[in-house]
Amino acid sequence: MRTASQDLSKEVAAAQAELAATLADLDERMLRDDALLELTATVEAAGRVVDALRLKTAGEVAFRSRRELGEDRLSAQKGCRNGVELLARITLASERTLTQRMRVGEATRPRTALTGDTLPAAFPAASAALRAGTLGYDSALAIIDTLAPIRARVGDLNLERAEHALVAAATGPTVESPLPFAADEVRGQARVWESVLDPDGTEPAEERAMNARGISAGLTRDGLVHRKMALLPEIDAKFETLLNAYLNPRSKPTFTDPDPDAPKDPRATAQARHDVFASLIDGAARSADAPRIGGAAPTVLVSVRQADLDQRCGSGFIEGCDAALSMAAVEQLVCAGGLQHALIGDDGRLVSLSTTDRVFNAQQRRAITLRDGGCIIPGCTIPAAWSEIHHVIAHRDGGETDVCNGVLLCWFHHRTIETSGWQILMIDGVPHVKPPPWLRNGRSDADTPWRRSTKSRTQLADLLERQPVLVE
Ligand SMILES: [Zn+2]
Repeated sequence: MRTASQDLSKEVAAAQAELAATLADLDERMLRDDALLELTATVEAAGRVVDALRLKTAGEVAFRSRRELGEDRLSAQKGCRNGVELLARITLASERTLTQRMRVGEATRPRTALTGDTLPAAFPAASAALRAGTLGYDSALAIIDTLAPIRARVGDLNLERAEHALVAAATGPTVESPLPFAADEVRGQARVWESVLDPDGTEPAEERAMNARGISAGLTRDGLVHRKMALLPEIDAKFETLLNAYLNPRSKPTFTDPDPDAPKDPRATAQARHDVFASLIDGAARSADAPRIGGAAPTVLVSVRQADLDQRCGSGFIEGCDAALSMAAVEQLVCAGGLQHALIGDDGRLVSLSTTDRVFNAQQRRAITLRDGGCIIPGCTIPAAWSEIHHVIAHRDGGETDVCNGVLLCWFHHRTIETSGWQILMIDGVPHVKPPPWLRNGRSDADTPWRRSTKSRTQLADLLERQPVLVE
């Protein structure tokens, strides 16, 4: 066995250089069919060896970076949080790929007993086949990921039986087949072994689900932040119920609309669900029970250049978020959440800082809630606690942060208030709305009356009382 790492790296580098030369010379279009297929198979075989080397190194890095070692672990010595981060710095591969490599690498790595003796790997057959270059990475992953979670329940002997059978199927002729099975077939066979060895797997499945639950960190793509959510069924049921409760039932298309005057929701269901979620988060963040950060409710800090804000172009930026914010989003946040001016000199020095103003305070919100009861757009069912307060006359146009200039709007109606066509007018301090042209039944703007709008039940009771009641 050779140990001089310098030599090992050199050897691999020499092999890499040879492969690189082949790659540079290769014109695959010139190959005959059979030659192309032969080359494909040979390249794959070489890839299996490279993959096995990757697994070995990743497994060893994982082992040396294991948490029990505390500050002595390799990752900490190199200034990384864990093995994945260290490997990512070196390999530039994705976290997902590296986590898999570390998992398979550790499972196929010889173990050390407390006495210092070397023990076989947790998956000895897979380990040997990887070393021989006969077992592919995908098959190894399928075998280990299916069998490792059931080891504690089915016992080492059963697991060994399954592992040997699966590695045999993946690497060479068996009684069932004259040819090795491909990775997808191996995964299928592993599932069969799992169901045979661990027939009452529902309880463990729940345990697995409990371990796998989570909401991933966001990944920014195309101006959206994508998150993966793996919710436990009961949590999802609650979430779904909550979303549906506030989804406008009229947003669903029907063939016979019972109320042709009812505003139709132009949003796709998925979009409407997103917007209910937006309001829900707003409500939770504002709730008195929400944890305070430095004395203030959880606040999202957006920075924007004054010139961009004045000209209503450009974009804003949220601390810690890759995606830029559209000016419409910035304006909405300014309207509902306030603005603080920071003047920074040419030399980068903070020259002055204004206090936050133009935010409706708690008393004002309570008063507006009493008057409006919820998002004032007719047909919208978002409750007051989840709504934002909109300056009817924008601050930049001289509008004050006063109950006579603030109305409740849900996140979606607030975001789209300038483009949706809905108009809002305060008449003697009372919110009135006018629907967009497509909801006016052909009437012109002048012929469409301003209608008072409130969702407040006390206000509605008041209004009904003042209406003449017909008594027979
Ligand atoms: Zn609304």
